Amino acid sequence: MESCIFCHIAKKKIPSEVIYEDKDLIAILDIAPVHLGHTLIISKKHYPNILKTPEKILAKMVALGKKIGKKQLEALGAHGFNLTSNTHPAAGQSVMHVHFHIIPRYEKDGLKSWRQKKYKPGEAEKIAKKLQLN
Ligand code: AMP
Ligand code: ZN
Repeated sequence: MESCIFCHIAKKKIPSEVIYEDKDLIAILDIAPVHLGHTLIISKKHYPNILKTPEKILAKMVALGKKIGKKQLEALGAHGFNLTSNTHPAAGQSVMHVHFHIIPRYEKDGLKSWRQKKYKPGEAEKIAKKLQLN
């Protein structure tokens, strides 16, 4: 992908702070961190989002996310971390190349990801039916 910034990063055509690399993945510091140490795991091969990414690569990405999160707790003194992948612009995806964020979190850091609602009577049952997978 000629114009994809994460393809350029994976090929080292754009500099980044790399904290891990193997044949399939590269993990770098996000240029605009939510907290210092906010990391991105990027697939070296271009896939637009997690829906288009093979399970094997996704499994590697999540396993690496676990290691990076653990490292953020140990090395940065973080109290927790968020491991997330925004999928489609409506969910906040701005770079259309699959990646996971690992964001170190601190008690009372004041960040709230989203506001939660309540179901009306009977509504949860209907939605659960729509979402059934088995
Ligand atoms: P998303 O909005 O979920 O697609 O995440 C894209 C992330 O990439 C954002 O958090 C950006 O700050 C980050 N980003 C964009 N360009 C760069 C870059 N050149 N190096 C590191 N991170 C970047
Ligand atoms: Zn790409």
